Amino acid sequence: MKKGRVFSGARPTGRQHIGNYLGAIQNYVALQEEYECVYCVVDLHALTTLTDTDKLRANTEEMALDWLAAGMDPQKSIIFVQSHVPQVTELHTILSMVTPMGWLTRLPTFKEKIRIQPDNVNYGLLGYPVLMAADITLYKADSVPVGEDQAPHLEFTREIVRRFNFHFGPVLVEPQMKLTPFPRVMGLDGVNKMSKSLDNHIELASSPEEIERRVMTMVTDPQRRYRTDPGRPEVCNVFAFHGFFSPKEVEAIESECKGALVGCVDCKRALARNLAQSLAPFREKRAEMARDPDLVWEILRDGAARASLIAQETIAEVKQKVGLP
Ligand code: SF4
Repeated sequence: MKKGRVFSGARPTGRQHIGNYLGAIQNYVALQEEYECVYCVVDLHALTTLTDTDKLRANTEEMALDWLAAGMDPQKSIIFVQSHVPQVTELHTILSMVTPMGWLTRLPTFKEKIRIQPDNVNYGLLGYPVLMAADITLYKADSVPVGEDQAPHLEFTREIVRRFNFHFGPVLVEPQMKLTPFPRVMGLDGVNKMSKSLDNHIELASSPEEIERRVMTMVTDPQRRYRTDPGRPEVCNVFAFHGFFSPKEVEAIESECKGALVGCVDCKRALARNLAQSLAPFREKRAEMARDPDLVWEILRDGAARASLIAQETIAEVKQKVGLP
């Protein structure tokens, strides 16, 4: 039976952190077994903010290295860089002709972006969802993994597809949502989502020493002031991480914490140890791959060549349907 095709993309943010892994990469790896996956580093999307563009290449390389070392497999999936397949910009232009301005200006995400960068409200920001629709439809993806909060974005793509197909005939595939329960991974502060910009993260490629240094700064149960106070694991971010990385010990930690039988410092040390152990195979594979800097670009170039075959077919069908000579 023919496998379904999944598309997903992520902006090149450089080295990935644990939140990226638990919230996306882990799922990317699992999907490869069931689907034909198309995974894209969306570098054109990154241009909308016009910051750090001099780091685009390095950030792309670092992110791709992390993806590959974490198990995203170029033998199973197409892994490539968005701008290496230029048909996406053609499709973006054509889809923009069927996208009413009002749809774009009304989007809460656009309003939020204006708030964040009021001095650079460019067309790219407004057209961002159209480029996203081009990404998904160019590769004829029939499913897109989304968390509940991203569902409206995909619905927007589906609306563009329906409008395009209504005008020109059924060419584009209307992607289905693959609702995925992504865990919400909090940062070291325990208050905000893990994020590099807030510097509350742990990179996947961190050394065991760096992991320990970062884990020791984690916020615990704020009411537990003394070692003899019973703790509340249910409100403690360290405990949440034990849930991800200490599956065999988590029950014991819960009862020891509640019974004041373990101190927070020792509890964090145990987490740092388990985290470093879990990430050891990743670190080794990454270090090995990083020794040959051309390797990652070869993989990305090969991915782009395979993605181009699908893209060329789609764009030819689209042009023919819209009547471009
Ligand atoms: Fe959190 Fe561990 Fe301290 Fe309990 S003992 S409050 S789980 S860090």
